[in-house]
Amino acid sequence: MEAGFIREPEIWKTLEESKRPSREAIKETFSKALDLKGLDYKDIAILSSISDPELLAELFNTAKKAKETIYGKRLVLFAPLYISNLCTNECLYCAFRAKNTELKRRVLTQEEIAHETRQLIDQGHKRILLVAGESYPKQGFKYVLDSIATIYAQKSGKSGEIRRVNVNVAPLMLEEFRDLKAAKIGTYQLFQETYNHETYHAVHLAGKKSDYDWRVTAMDRAMEAGIDDVGIGVLFGLSDWRFELMATLQHIRHLEMKFGVGPHTISVPRLEPASGSDMSSHPPKPVSDIDFRKIVAILRLAIPYTGIIMSTRETPNIRREAFALGVSQISAGSRTNPGGYCEDEEFDSSQFSLGDHRSLDEVVRDIAMLGYIPSFCTGCYRLGRTGQDFMDLAKPGEIKKHCDPNALSTFTEYLEDYASNETREVGEKLVKETLEGMGEREKIVSQSLIEKVKTGKRDCYI
Ligand code: SAM
Ligand code: SF4
Repeated sequence: MEAGFIREPEIWKTLEESKRPSREAIKETFSKALDLKGLDYKDIAILSSISDPELLAELFNTAKKAKETIYGKRLVLFAPLYISNLCTNECLYCAFRAKNTELKRRVLTQEEIAHETRQLIDQGHKRILLVAGESYPKQGFKYVLDSIATIYAQKSGKSGEIRRVNVNVAPLMLEEFRDLKAAKIGTYQLFQETYNHETYHAVHLAGKKSDYDWRVTAMDRAMEAGIDDVGIGVLFGLSDWRFELMATLQHIRHLEMKFGVGPHTISVPRLEPASGSDMSSHPPKPVSDIDFRKIVAILRLAIPYTGIIMSTRETPNIRREAFALGVSQISAGSRTNPGGYCEDEEFDSSQFSLGDHRSLDEVVRDIAMLGYIPSFCTGCYRLGRTGQDFMDLAKPGEIKKHCDPNALSTFTEYLEDYASNETREVGEKLVKETLEGMGEREKIVSQSLIEKVKTGKRDCYI
């Protein structure tokens, strides 16, 4: 498949031309951003070059306004589930790379996956992101399909089941993507890692992943196979982050033009130390905390209706700031080693080290204390509000009418079934305050869902 939609020379030229934009040009870009219709990549170049503290503060405030208008105070929670760390690729930044002899290899059996899933359910999770290296045991790709079925089949506790399985596995062929869709996945997620061809080849030394075009066209094949909910991302630290943001936008516009809809989510992983990887501890293009905030803020303004996902790679402090700037989904209580939820053997089989080691309950309490509503909602996906249908609802702000009541209903489920006393107290106060601040119609809908949950019904959504 032709992959010429990442036009590098154009990006470098624009970056060069926008190195020192005038104050007026920056201010104009802020007002354009506040229309919430998105930005083009020249605007991204302009915003990326801001260093003046006053303008930087204005960038962050503009992003906060956009976030608040579209997403309100909701934060969707999920947990990754690593099923295998086998891999035939040689990505220099990753502990799972084939030649890393420091890593203990582990492929979970279906029983072990069932066990891990029940652990996550018992913490209160409703969404799982299934993750694997790029090599499967003898069943081949069927191993992933079987694992998805195993996860969905588990039941535990009061409201205990996983209601949405998102998947982050290596690029597939068209037929395999069709099978993945038939397995009822939520989002198919895949990161290009870097859109810079030279860097890409320098850090992906062997295996199928060394083929840039095969990877960058994966979302085309996924969408052709009918998966209209995809998530993209860049591994920040490999190449210039300004370049990556602009290339990301080229990728998005390509998908929008070809399929009528872009990605549902974008992830913002930063390179973290991983065993057997010097590069992971010495990123070629390190991204500072301030630049990381800029990345989140610029993305929020450039693609206002695309969810931004942040993982436990980041520390609690950075995470708190990023929520306000634009992040809408976070992982919590994560382990990045296969078997990590049931066993205490993190160090020799993990993919990378984590910045946030707190339990789901602690994270929920913390974000609730900051005034964010932890949401375990899976309503849109189960009512078929995905792809173009989701965007049609999201763009005029309609989706909030569904999301806010669903967030409160699933949060109440969590408080009733899984929360510690301390978290329940904080959470109930937040639910009450949120209801008080709602419009009349939304309040009635939310109250009725909450009432159902309180009287024992589960999985209530509109
Ligand atoms: N193996 C598949 C692949 O590479 O696409 C899917 C799973 S891979 C474990 C998921 C993601 O982990 C990669 O896309 C990469 O961005 C991220 N990753 C790898 N090494 C990392 C590190 N040292 N720090 C942070 N993220 C890392
Ligand atoms: Fe394998 Fe993915 Fe790690 Fe690369 S990033 S070594 S493909 S698991």
